[in-house]
Order: sequence, then structure tokens, then C-alpha cells
Amino acid sequence: MNFPKNLIKGNIVLGERLGRHTSFRIGGPAAVWADPRDVKELKRIVIFAGENRIPTFVIGGGTNVLARDEGFNGIVIHLGSSTFKNIRTSGTTIRIGSGYSVPALVRLCCNEGLSGLESLIGIPGTVGGAVCMNAGGWSSPLYKNIGDYVTSLKVMDNKGKIETLKREALSFGYRYSNLSPYVILEADLKLIREESSALKSRCSKFLKMKRDKQVLDAPSAGCVFKNPKDFQFTTGQMIDMLGLKGLTLGGAQISRKHANFIINRGRASCEDVLKLVDIIRKKVMDNYNISLELEIKII
Ligand SMILES: Cc1cc2nc3c(=O)[nH]c(=O)nc-3n(C[C@H](O)[C@H](O)[C@H](O)COP(=O)(O)OP(=O)(O)OC[C@H]3O[C@@H](n4cnc5c(N)ncnc54)[C@H](O)[C@@H]3O)c2cc1C
Repeated sequence: MNFPKNLIKGNIVLGERLGRHTSFRIGGPAAVWADPRDVKELKRIVIFAGENRIPTFVIGGGTNVLARDEGFNGIVIHLGSSTFKNIRTSGTTIRIGSGYSVPALVRLCCNEGLSGLESLIGIPGTVGGAVCMNAGGWSSPLYKNIGDYVTSLKVMDNKGKIETLKREALSFGYRYSNLSPYVILEADLKLIREESSALKSRCSKFLKMKRDKQVLDAPSAGCVFKNPKDFQFTTGQMIDMLGLKGLTLGGAQISRKHANFIINRGRASCEDVLKLVDIIRKKVMDNYNISLELEIKII
């Protein structure tokens, strides 16, 4: 790809290995890695990609991404600059840049006495990724996914036009949003006033549950598959009952702790992970007649 490196002043790297930017630590080179410094530079990249029919992928913390070994033949856009990390609190409303870290946001909310996001404690990544994925911890009427708190979003479309999407234009579901055509720039969240000490103790409880159940000490991308709708078992339970925990292919392993996690034991390739994905899908289909849907994004 012929990419003019002087298109922006922000960091451009040709052939940047995506394994350096994904929590799985897997992924070959991106043709172009672009870190625009501000919205104007982002717009230049988006327009250039559109005019030249170059695929783009917006990466946040890379914590829900499996990047292919052969890499991504397009532009990976990363909103890492400080202009995409602004935060402003006014009463119970927060306006926050998409590059802001989710764990840092949850801590800030606890300190400021703003309730709603406690169950997201321990979810790595950025606000942009969390909103796009409608991330959430333990769903209950009290603890919802992040999308439930979004009142509006500032986004850029694929022509570089900036729009504000009001709540009515947003659609959130289980690890789903209708935001994939956009680059999310900023989110407005409406939270609920509550004592800071109560929020902190709730966060500690959620973090303990997460540490007990999930795999936080090995490279992964969190849960690989979504849970099936209206079924008696979770995906993790099905994989466990099928005796697949611990199954290892190359450097990838179905976690012994949480069967819906695949971990990179050191030198896993994307191919290793995809082979395990295929085995799980086939066994679950054969035994439960359920077609598993991926939660992770493959690029
Ligand atoms: C150990 C571990 C535990 C996890 N636990 C949970 C959990 O409990 N609950 C849960 O929901 N998830 C969990 N995850 C998955 C992941 O952390 C979340 O989905 C997270 O919100 C992804 O954020 P990110 O910034 O890393 O996004 P990325 O992984 O970089 O991207 C995810 C998706 O969002 C899109 N995206 C990112 N930024 C933008 C943007 N600015 N504009 C438009 N699109 C964007 C990407 O294109 C991609 O489609 C876990 C992951 C790990 C590794």
C-alpha cells in the first residue's frame, strides 16, 4: 500500500506487529498503524482510506481482538493521543473521550460518588471499545452494561463527518451495538449519585468475583464466545462438560479455570486459537445443537 507518511504529524508505523497491541499477544503486521493526534488528523486518515478503498480497523486496548498471523492489510487507527482522553464531569453526567481507560473511569466514578459502572471494574480496554462492544460485568437489573448509561455519542462516519448520535439512534444488545460503521470519539454517560464508600466496597466484591472466575494472569481476549440466548447452560459450562478444558494446540490452550477463555501460553499463533475455536464450535453443535457466536473480533 502506498501510504503518504506525511498525511498526519501523529505516529505512523508501517508493518507494526499487532501482537504488540492486543491482550492476546497475537497478530502479524498491520500495513499501516496510525495514531492521529487529533480529530483533524483522524479525518484525513478516514478520507484517505475511503478515497483509496483501504480497509480500516479502529483499535482501542486490543483486549477483545484476535489478529491474524498474516496481519491486516489496511490502516489500524489507534486513538491513543491525549486529545481522545479528555474527561469532564458535571453533576451526574460525564463526557469522556473514547481513548480513556475503563478501569480508570470506574475508579474515578467511585471516587466522585457516581454509581452504575462498578460491575465493569477489571474489564480492560478503552471507553470506545467498551461502548462499541456494550461491555458489562454481571448483568442484573441493578448492574447493567455500559450502553445503558450512554445518553449520546460523538462519532465520525466513514466520510470524516462528525455527528452527535442521541440515545434514540443507538442500539445496544448483548455484546452488541450498532456503532461499527463509526469511529467513536466521545461518550456522554448519565450515572447515579451514591456514597463513594458503598461504591468502593461493591467494586472490591466484583473484582474478587472476577479474579475467582476469570483468567487474569495469562494473555487472552476474555470470553471467546457469547453465551447462547435462553439456554440452560453458559458456553463455559458446555465446553467444560464436553471435557475440553486444558485442550492445547500449539501455544493456545482452553483455560482450565474458565472454559470460555482461550489463553496464549507463550507462542500461540492465531491459527492455533482458530483451530481450538473450530473444535469447540463443532463439539457444541454436535452435542447441544447450538451454533456458538464469537464475542471476540477477528481481524
Ligand atoms: C482478561 C479479560 C477479561 C475481560 N472481561 C470482560 C467482561 O467481563 N465483560 C466484557 O464485556 N468484556 C470483557 N473483556 C473483553 C474486552 O475487555 C471488552 O470487550 C472491552 O470493552 C474492549 O475494549 P478495547 O478498548 O480493548 O476494544 P478493542 O478490543 O480494541 O476493540 C473491540 C471492538 O471495539 C471497536 N472499537 C474500539 N475502539 C473504538 C472506537 N473508538 N470507535 C469505534 N469502534 C471502536 C473495535 O473496532 C472492535 O470492534 C475481557 C477481556 C480480557 C482480556
